[in-house]
Amino acid sequence: MLSTETAVITGASSGIGEATAHALANAGYKVILGARRVDRLEKVARATGGQAFALDVTDQRSVDDFVNQVPEVSILVNNAGGALGMESIQEADLGKWLTMYESNVLGTVRMTKALLPKLESSGNGHIVMVTSIASFMPYIGGGGYVAAKHAERALTATLRLELLGKPIRVTDIAPGMVQTEFSLVRFGGDRVKADAVYEGMLPLTAEDIADCILWSVTRPPHVNIDKIVVMPRDQAAPGVVHRRPSSSGHDS
Ligand code: NAP
Repeated sequence: MLSTETAVITGASSGIGEATAHALANAGYKVILGARRVDRLEKVARATGGQAFALDVTDQRSVDDFVNQVPEVSILVNNAGGALGMESIQEADLGKWLTMYESNVLGTVRMTKALLPKLESSGNGHIVMVTSIASFMPYIGGGGYVAAKHAERALTATLRLELLGKPIRVTDIAPGMVQTEFSLVRFGGDRVKADAVYEGMLPLTAEDIADCILWSVTRPPHVNIDKIVVMPRDQAAPGVVHRRPSSSGHDS
């Protein structure tokens, strides 16, 4: 059965957020989309029949303006975020660490705080956090991102405890390697470095993660999917990847 509920998706201008907008809209949800690149966001809104509003989750005023345009909501997908750089702790760039903490952690808290009353009054609220396998598995050079995603996992688990008894579900989606703009952003726009991340292996697609999110939110209201950890078959842990000699990335 198609839903008529409203879903807010942060970071919907590309990657997992964009794919989630399509998946939820196809299932009948009204989607309200937020991100900083409004031109791209508006294209996604047009393609999904949704609404697009500028949103920078690191800026409280932007979050307030966004939330004021959301009359009701039952699903919040906290997806905005990402990684910057691959420096060791010794070489840590604290500016990048701060930005990652602001977007992945504090941005998630800002959006959650602001929308909790509306999620509760919907009578069937659901908060989906897009964390990462980095939220529980460190890797060399992951420092600031690993720390931020660990914090996001911790706040997700805390929220689940604090919301017990209220009509709000909390789900943690923890992906491994997904081919989106994630690596391009991480490496400051360096396409060669970004492409090398997926060389010779078959990563997940944004649609694979959107599928997990759609499945979680369409379980019956009494069923809380606590956590989904999802990696490509070619990955067993961060940095532990099976690569084929050919660079096609596809099974023969
Ligand atoms: P992506 O294609 O780079 O998408 C990131 C999205 O987040 C963009 O829409 C970006 O939009 C938005 N965003 C970033 N900072 C923002 C801010 N301050 N305010 C509002 N929106 C912001 O990468 P992705 O892979 O889809 O990433 C989505 C989420 O999945 C992230 O939380 C990431 O950490 C997580 N994740 C990704 C992978 C992976 O391998 N790809 C694995 C595990 C977890 P604007 O730039 O337009 O604002």
